[in-house]
Amino acid sequence: MRIEVRSQSREEMIDITRDVAAAVSGSGVDTGYALVYCPHTTAGLTINEAADPDVRADILAGLSRLAPREGGWRHAEGNADAHIKASLMGASVLVPVRRGELVLGTWQGIFFCEFDGPRRRSVDVTVMPSGDS
Ligand code: ZN
Repeated sequence: MRIEVRSQSREEMIDITRDVAAAVSGSGVDTGYALVYCPHTTAGLTINEAADPDVRADILAGLSRLAPREGGWRHAEGNADAHIKASLMGASVLVPVRRGELVLGTWQGIFFCEFDGPRRRSVDVTVMPSGDS
């Protein structure tokens, strides 16, 4: 299933937990895994705290310290920092599914991480049943 994401700024962490949970419900899978995949080179996915929005701000600030926008990079498009941040976050997360629901910790959320927005983006969710229960 495909989730559409519309980012509003160059860098942004968008909570897509509800959309992924809806894809899991729609799949009818009771026990298994949800593979959430980002098919973009300047955006990524991560699981982190969804309660305090300052955590998101700090993650973005921390990534910018690791990969500043003006870093003397070679990539001619001028968005090398976005590519580096996307690789640091990763292109996918795999979340267990039990009783038809995502197995996430109390404070966890699934975030789409935009590093070169604003853009229209998409995320692919594949829900796979597993034998165990
Ligand atoms: Zn580029």
